[in-house]
Amino acid sequence: MMEEKIKQLHQEILDFSAGDKQAVEAFRLKYISKKGVLADLFEDLKQVPVEQKKNIGKVLNELKQAAEAKFAALNESVESSSSSADSGMDLSLPPVQNKIGNFHPLTQTRARIIEIFERLGFNVADGPEVEDDWHNFSALNFPENHPAREMQDTFFVEKNPDILLRTHTSNVQIRLMEKQKPPIRAIMPGRVYRNEAISARAHCFFHQVEGLYVDKNVGFADLKQTLYHFAKEMYGKDVKMRFRPSYFPFTEPSAEIDVTCLICKGKGCNVCKYSGWVEIAGSGMVHPNVLRNCGIDSEEYTGFAFGMGIERVTMLRYQINDLRLFSENDIRFLRQFQGG
Ligand SMILES: [Zn+2]
Repeated sequence: MMEEKIKQLHQEILDFSAGDKQAVEAFRLKYISKKGVLADLFEDLKQVPVEQKKNIGKVLNELKQAAEAKFAALNESVESSSSSADSGMDLSLPPVQNKIGNFHPLTQTRARIIEIFERLGFNVADGPEVEDDWHNFSALNFPENHPAREMQDTFFVEKNPDILLRTHTSNVQIRLMEKQKPPIRAIMPGRVYRNEAISARAHCFFHQVEGLYVDKNVGFADLKQTLYHFAKEMYGKDVKMRFRPSYFPFTEPSAEIDVTCLICKGKGCNVCKYSGWVEIAGSGMVHPNVLRNCGIDSEEYTGFAFGMGIERVTMLRYQINDLRLFSENDIRFLRQFQGG
C-alpha cells in the first residue's frame, strides 16, 4: 500500500547519515532527483483513486519537504566539517608571538645620555634645524672667514642673508642663553647636517648632544667631573678618560675628550688606530665673547660646554664599525637592538 511505503521512506530519510560529499550526492540521486524515489511516487499518485488522492498527496508532500530539509542539513554538515579540515589549522599549536619592534639604536643611546644628564640636573632643550647665520656661526664667535662657513662644509638654504641647515646643535645653546638668565643647565640633543662625502666614518647628517652649564663660579673642574661621571655611567666604571688641549672658536680653553678603547681595552686595535684611546667629545669653557653675544655678563658668570656625536657613542657602545648602517634601515641590523 502506498501510504505504508511513504511512511517507511520518511523514516529512512530521517535516519540517513552522510560522512562526505559523495554520500550526500547519493542521497540526492536516490530520493530527490528527477529519477529518484519521490518523482516515481508523484508519478504513482496519478493512478491513485480520487477519494484517496487528497490524503496521500498530503503525506507525499510532507515526505518531499522532509527530504529537501534533510538534503540541506546533510550539505551543511559535510561542508562545515570539510572546511575546518582543509584549512590545515592545528588548534593545538602555541600562538604566534606578536613582534612589537624596538627603538632605533641611536634613539636608545640618546635616551640613555638624557637619563644620565637629567640625574645631574640638566634639562633637555630643543631648537630649529634650519637656522640663520647668527645662531649657527656669528654668535658662537666664528670669524667671518672661518672655513666652516664655506659652501663645501655647510648646506645653505639661502644666501644673503644666510639661512642654512645647522652644522651643530650649538644654535640651541645661543637661543637658550638669549632668552634665559643664568643659572642655565641644559643638554641639546638633535640632528645636524654637514656637506660631507658619505663613508663608513662620515655622513651628511648625524646626531649630537651638546651640554651647557652657565652660573657663577663654574670652573674647568666642574666640566671634568661632569664628563667623568658621564663616561663611567655610559661605558662602565673602569673606563679611563683623558683631556687633550684643542681649539674651538666658542670655548677657551678647549679640550677634546678621549676614553680608553672599549674594544681592545687600551691595548691597541684598528678601531682606535692602535692608540688605545677613542675620542668621544669636544668641550671647553664658554668663550666670554659668546656670553656677551647672548647678553650675559661674562665678568659675573662663567660656563662650560661640551658636545658629542650620538653615532660615535653608539658605535663604541655596540662595537659598530660603519656609520652608514644607522640610516640604511636594514631590518637585519636594526633587529639586533631589542629591549630598548
Ligand atoms: Zn682599540
